Amino acid sequence: MNKGKILSRSIWVFHFCSGSCNNCDIEILDALTPRFDLERFGIKLVGSIKHADCMLVTGMINKKGATRLKFLYDIAPKPLAVVAIGACACSGGIFEPSYYTYGPVDKIIPVDAYIPGCPARPEALIDGIVKVVKKLST
Ligand code: SF4
Repeated sequence: MNKGKILSRSIWVFHFCSGSCNNCDIEILDALTPRFDLERFGIKLVGSIKHADCMLVTGMINKKGATRLKFLYDIAPKPLAVVAIGACACSGGIFEPSYYTYGPVDKIIPVDAYIPGCPARPEALIDGIVKVVKKLST
């Protein structure tokens, strides 16, 4: 495998939060700080899904969030890699079962990588994004 070729593309990420406790969101921000410095890998946070190669999803999916998540996925340019971050996004976490949850992210849209943890650590987050680079390179 030619890693140089696969990692030759910068990945722009869009962050979607649906009903999380915000701790996983803080870990995403932590990954962007100079300590972890995601931008040195060309990974950049963008404000529009139309500019993104990858969507980071945090939190359990509630009714309002499910509608918006599906809409954003549908309008995003493809290929789009989806990374579920934290136990809530991966499996519903501590909010399952509950009357207001729609389950984990993969009940709504396809997921390419799962980053477990409560919260997910920045190192694991970086690892997950790098794993979806291959999908985006094909
Ligand atoms: S996985 Fe844990 S830290 Fe992350 S949003 Fe859910 S409850 Fe919060």
